[in-house]
Amino acid sequence: MPPAERALGREPAADPPKPWRRPSAARVARVRDRLREVYGIPLMAPHERPLDELILTVLSQSTNDRNRDVAFMRLRERFADTGPSAPCAGSIDYEAMLRAPVGEIEEAIRPGGISKVKSARIKAILQAIAGSARDPRCQLSLDWMREAPIEESRDYLTALPGVGRKTAACVLLFSYGLPDIPVDTHVSRVGTRLGFFRPGAGFEELHDEMLAITPAGQALELHVDLLRHGRRTCFARDPACPRCPLARMCPSRRLPSARQKPEPRRTQPRGSTKNAITA
Ligand code: SF4
Repeated sequence: MPPAERALGREPAADPPKPWRRPSAARVARVRDRLREVYGIPLMAPHERPLDELILTVLSQSTNDRNRDVAFMRLRERFADTGPSAPCAGSIDYEAMLRAPVGEIEEAIRPGGISKVKSARIKAILQAIAGSARDPRCQLSLDWMREAPIEESRDYLTALPGVGRKTAACVLLFSYGLPDIPVDTHVSRVGTRLGFFRPGAGFEELHDEMLAITPAGQALELHVDLLRHGRRTCFARDPACPRCPLARMCPSRRLPSARQKPEPRRTQPRGSTKNAITA
């Protein structure tokens, strides 16, 4: 501190925070490579069942993977598809679900939590799709998205009741491997700490930025590996920075002082790798 300021008891002004700038492609690639070393490259072939993916993602809201899967399994049991196949082929008879009272859907998905809200949303989504059917053979088919321009499919999905960018991205990426990338709570948190996103960015901006920085053809890998990192190391409340493989390239790392004890071992969260579609 300069002597004059010290004499007046003034603290020198802190440097103003640097304005956020989009990370370079090289930096994103370094993060991707490090994550790849730790978590590998996820191998998940597109399953080509967009309506299943849409309903599964609605069921995943505000619950864990297990409860989501139980709720989906119960829907499959209640509305088992025993009819002929294409183009309405799927694991669920959605036509029957569309005709069923909303209470029947609610009862089936109760183990997934907030079933009243989710059942009403599912019903509203099915009604909206039926009301704007594009396939004369099946009013609930979303199969046209396989060939449609991705912007058109995204706009269609986000116009459905309660469907936002994350859900739309799940449908497009996991069903058809299209270049969209869901930014869930883990990807958002880890990406913000790594400086991928502008602090305080809203959902739309997060998705736009994620699309802008994701290397071509690597949406699935980046999404899954950032999500895994959020679940296993970069925890919301207490990120495990001292053992984080990204610490050297992370502007938000918190390293322990010399007097701090080493942090206790944590139990790793369990779950399938399909967890990519959650949250
Ligand atoms: S260094 Fe810490 S804040 Fe940065 S990514 Fe790793 S765990 Fe998260």
